[in-house]
Amino acid sequence: MSLPPLVEPAEELTRDEVRRYSRHLIIPDVGVMGQKRLKNARVLCVGAGGLGSPALMYLAAAGVGTLGVVDFDTVDESNLQRQVIHGQSDIGRPKAESAADSVREINPYVDVIIHNEALTNDNVFEIFGQYDLIVDGTDNFATRYMVNDACVLLGKPYVWGSIYRFDGQASVFWAEYGPCYRCLYPEPPPPGMVPSCAEGGVLGVLCASIGSIQVTEAIKVLTGVGEPLVGGLIVYDALEMSYRKIKVRKDPNCAICGENPTITGLIDYEEFCGALSTEAADAVVGSTITVKDLDEWIRAEKPIHLVDVREPAEYEIVKIPGSTLIPKGDILSGQALADLPQDRQIVLYCKSGVRSAEALAALKAAGFRDAVHVHGGVSAWVKQIDPSLPAY
Ligand SMILES: [Zn+2]
Repeated sequence: MSLPPLVEPAEELTRDEVRRYSRHLIIPDVGVMGQKRLKNARVLCVGAGGLGSPALMYLAAAGVGTLGVVDFDTVDESNLQRQVIHGQSDIGRPKAESAADSVREINPYVDVIIHNEALTNDNVFEIFGQYDLIVDGTDNFATRYMVNDACVLLGKPYVWGSIYRFDGQASVFWAEYGPCYRCLYPEPPPPGMVPSCAEGGVLGVLCASIGSIQVTEAIKVLTGVGEPLVGGLIVYDALEMSYRKIKVRKDPNCAICGENPTITGLIDYEEFCGALSTEAADAVVGSTITVKDLDEWIRAEKPIHLVDVREPAEYEIVKIPGSTLIPKGDILSGQALADLPQDRQIVLYCKSGVRSAEALAALKAAGFRDAVHVHGGVSAWVKQIDPSLPAY
C-alpha cells in the first residue's frame, strides 16, 4: 500500500542544497520534489542512543529540515560501543547536546531542536505536536507505550525499532492507515522477563541495521515514495543474517486504536509496565538493604551468604567482593536452592535490584524467610562504595 506524501514541499532548494543533495535529486522517485519535502519535514527522534545515533545522522545527511532530539541522559563510556553520534570527548555531556553538535557538523542546513529533558505525560503532546513524524529509539516499555499512545491520539505516524543482542525489529505504526504498537503488543511483558540491553547486551552494529530501516521508512513516509512498512514488521536475525517481513493486522479490539477504545488519554505508564511483579514487590517490603548496610555487614563480618544473581558474563565484569554467582534462572527453577546454606542469612544482588527482587520472591516462597536483597545492586555499590570498580 502506497500512501500520499506526509509533508508539503518547501518552496525551493538553494544552489548549495542542490549541490549537496544531487545524488538524491537524480533518483527519479525522489527528485527535486522529494528533496523539497524532506527540507520542509520536521522529525523528532526519541532518544539519542543506539537507534537514535544512526537515525539522527542519516536523517540529517538526507536533508530533513528540522530535527528534534529528546533525551535527558548524559553520554557514558559504555554508550560509545554503539552510540556513534557521540565521541570520546562527549563523555559526561548531555546526549541531546552532543547529538545536536554532530547533526550540525554533518549538515549545517538542518535546524536542530534540543529537548534536554525526559519525555513525560506532561510534555509529550507539546513536544510531539511540533513534528510531522516521530522516530522511536527508546529502550524501555513505559516510554514505548507512551510514545505509541501519544502518536495515536495526535494522529501521527511513528517509526519504531527495537534491538537486543543479535536480534532487531522495526515497523511503522500509524493508526490512521494500519496497526499501532498496542495492536502488535497489547500488554507489556511481565517485569523482569525481558532484559534490557543494559542487562542482556546488544551487538553495537545492530543499531545501524535497525536504525537504517527506520530512516528509510521515515524518508518514504515523508516523501510518499514506495510502500511504507505500515502493517508490516521486520524481524532481523544477525546470526542467521535474515530479514523476515511479517504481516501485522490492525486489532479491532485494540485498547487505543480499536473500534471501542478504552484508552482515550495518557495513562500511568510506569504502573502499566510495572517496575516489579506483584510477588517481587511484596517480597522486597521489609527485606531490602542498601549498599551502605551491606558494606557495614561485610566490615562487621556478619555471617551472610552473598549471592550475585546476574549472568556469568556480567559477574566477570564486576562483582561485589565475597559474592557467589547463582544466575536468577537457577534460583527461579529451584535448581540452585539445595546449594544454599540454611544457617546464614542470604543476601541477593543483581545490577540494579530488579532481578534480585524476583529471585528474592522465589527464595522466600522456598522458605528462606530472612533473605534480603540489595537496593540498586552492584551499580549502586560501584557508585557509592567503591568507584574504583568498573561500571557497565
Ligand atoms: Zn492499535
